[in-house]
Amino acid sequence: MAVAKRANSMSTFVLQIQDLDESGKDWNFAVGTDWLSSALAETELKPAGHEGTLRVHAQRNGQDVLVQGHITAELLASCARCLADVVLALDLALTVLFSPGHTRPSSSDKIEARLDEMNRDYYGGSEIVLDPTVREHLLLEAPMKPLCSEDCEGITVPECFRPPDAVFGASAPNGRLAPLLKLKEELTKKEE
Ligand SMILES: [Zn+2]
Repeated sequence: MAVAKRANSMSTFVLQIQDLDESGKDWNFAVGTDWLSSALAETELKPAGHEGTLRVHAQRNGQDVLVQGHITAELLASCARCLADVVLALDLALTVLFSPGHTRPSSSDKIEARLDEMNRDYYGGSEIVLDPTVREHLLLEAPMKPLCSEDCEGITVPECFRPPDAVFGASAPNGRLAPLLKLKEELTKKEE
């Protein structure tokens, strides 16, 4: 028997189709920091140090398998304003209907395929591999511009780089930050 792509041997979140029935089964996986590190390798995110969780309920309906799950993970990002570390505590649900690979729409149905690509996927062989789905959901859930706090003021200038009050005047708005605020104002105007 030809063994179809063993790419799956490196996968962590694998459901065996033969274990599934119409009433469904539950799985609990640990989302380890090693897994997170490699899943996030090409992104600006890193695991924050704790293991995450993946809870899954999978139910078979003919050849289709409905997978409903819940992911928690703590990722480390950089604040978009001040570059400080931000811990993102992600907690999200996923619902994906897996169909056999041979039912995948051809490229002529591309638009239709794209419409529901988040909630539809395909499996080959006898297992469903959730690794790419979990990665995708984590990346989509992570904010594009994470902030250390809603009112982060951005990079603060260390004391030694600040001009003395005499230069800009201590009574100017925000004192020493005034020149930076002005610069920011100008940049914002340019963006508009
Ligand atoms: Zn910040």
